[in-house]
Amino acid sequence: MPFMEKEKYQLSSRCRLHPSNEIFRDQEEHKIHVDLNEWRCGYCKKVFRAEKYLDQHFDNRHYNLLNVVSGSVFTFLSI
Ligand SMILES: [Zn+2]
Repeated sequence: MPFMEKEKYQLSSRCRLHPSNEIFRDQEEHKIHVDLNEWRCGYCKKVFRAEKYLDQHFDNRHYNLLNVVSGSVFTFLSI
């Protein structure tokens, strides 16, 4: 479902601009910048060549972990 994937990506990109975003902060804490072209996922230790791939990986592989927090955040944003 490419459309769903796109929606999800846009949602997370927009949230990133919000300074008090709990989801993004949680992601940041699990981004390990090993080297110039080496980013490691703090959840599963997988390594990526660029930060954007790690971002995509979070959206694709760990969205369930991030969604645990998202409920309260989106409620807060919609008020
Ligand atoms: Zn991972």
